[in-house]
Amino acid sequence: MPQNKKTFYITTPIYYVNDVPHIGHAYTTVAADCLARYKRLKGYDVFFLTGTDEHGQKVEKAAKEKNRTPQEHADLMVENFKNLWKVLNITHDGFIRTTDDGHKKIVRETLQKLRNKGEIEKRSYSGMYCTPCERFWTDKDVVNGNCPDCRARDSGQTKMW
Ligand SMILES: [Zn+2]
Repeated sequence: MPQNKKTFYITTPIYYVNDVPHIGHAYTTVAADCLARYKRLKGYDVFFLTGTDEHGQKVEKAAKEKNRTPQEHADLMVENFKNLWKVLNITHDGFIRTTDDGHKKIVRETLQKLRNKGEIEKRSYSGMYCTPCERFWTDKDVVNGNCPDCRARDSGQTKMW
């Protein structure tokens, strides 16, 4: 590659593997694919990444409901995403899984570097958390004790939905 060739990096969100892909997954991936294809046509050296986030409470809960370990569940569900990208003729250059050894190694090393620099400290935080939405909400956000997005309700025990 000539030294002066411009580079372009694009990624989709990495998708949770709690369930099969839906239209939102297809939308963001097709949109990223359009941009990647356009930049290639313009002569850029493109790297287009997509992948799956295989950690989190949603994945753990979905696995438990199917009597699988989270890894077994992720190994099965990730194939739905990979197959859909084939069907949609997506031109990604990389597919990352957060359970890949290489990914885990880099995350571990990066977090350790930050910790060594004093950039990470352990504190506790509590708040209203919606597992289906994977986010915290403040008192002003909630609607009658329910998540404003999905309407899940606080269990009243841990300040979490
Ligand atoms: Zn919610």
